[in-house]
Amino acid sequence: MAFSRRGFFALAALAALHAPALADETVNVYSYRQPALINPLFDQFTKETGIKVRTVFAENGLIERLEQEGPLSPADLLMTADVGRLVDAADKGLAQPVDLPSILDKIPAGLRATDNGWFGLTMRARVVYASKKRVDQNSFTYEELAEPKWKGKICLRPGNHPYNLGLIAAMIAHKGEAATKDWLTGLKANLAIKPSGNDVSQAKSVLAGECDIAIANTYYMGKMMTNEAEPEQKEWANSARIIFPSSPDMGTHVNISGMLLTKNAPHKNNALKLMEFLASDEAQQLYAGGNFEYPVNPAIPASKIVQDWGTFTPDTLNIAEIAKNQKAAARLVDEVQFND
Ligand code: FE
Repeated sequence: MAFSRRGFFALAALAALHAPALADETVNVYSYRQPALINPLFDQFTKETGIKVRTVFAENGLIERLEQEGPLSPADLLMTADVGRLVDAADKGLAQPVDLPSILDKIPAGLRATDNGWFGLTMRARVVYASKKRVDQNSFTYEELAEPKWKGKICLRPGNHPYNLGLIAAMIAHKGEAATKDWLTGLKANLAIKPSGNDVSQAKSVLAGECDIAIANTYYMGKMMTNEAEPEQKEWANSARIIFPSSPDMGTHVNISGMLLTKNAPHKNNALKLMEFLASDEAQQLYAGGNFEYPVNPAIPASKIVQDWGTFTPDTLNIAEIAKNQKAAARLVDEVQFND
């Protein structure tokens, strides 16, 4: 026998992933976004098209996995929670451009790659959650977060998380590396506790009195406010209010979640249908209403809860510029030993 049994089954499995019969009914997604945030959209897509969405969720390592799998990767779509990873994957040659008008018409040019190798799907601002009890002021500059008046008052998740790297990268783009390093050193000196947890747990720390100011993304406030499964999160949310920071030379930092079609997508047609769906008015409405994100599709307004947080001036920096400075941002986080 030319093949061992195991070898035969491995080949059969590989053939099945690429079989035309399956290509009509499935699409494979590697997602850095959490299942709870994204599964409702996939469920709706399957309901409407009959195409099943098979997912691999992970907080880390999906780009590396795509690289290792190479042309035989089963992944059709990569979904991320930040622009840095979209650009990183595209730079590594893992994406292929998409020029369907049904997608391009829904996503503004500033929120996708110039060659349409990746697309933003939602926007989120990285903001201050200020304690309602202990913080009186109604505006914040990014600069003052590094000033001694907030010593021992600030908490946030680890500095090397993509959300924080995005913010630091935007600071580098505006102020340069040296000034950003000083800022990061000042911010570190103001931390109430060692950076840990996620954005939601920072609100818990505000309620517990561990810190007065947390730095977190907007939509988590909406998720906590409406969390019926874990109602204690409503208390966390209610302990803080959102303030949109800015500075004389920088608007409020906004990052995107997004998607890209993989270079060798085995179910390309189904993947394009899913991309089309995610950019559509219907899916953008789901992102707005269920996830409390800002839709990229300008036809769809933010939800009432989100609108109640108020308006702000987003940073005008091109979203791709953030990705460019992200490696430098990671280096600064290491240099100031932000997480130690
Ligand atoms: Fe998130």
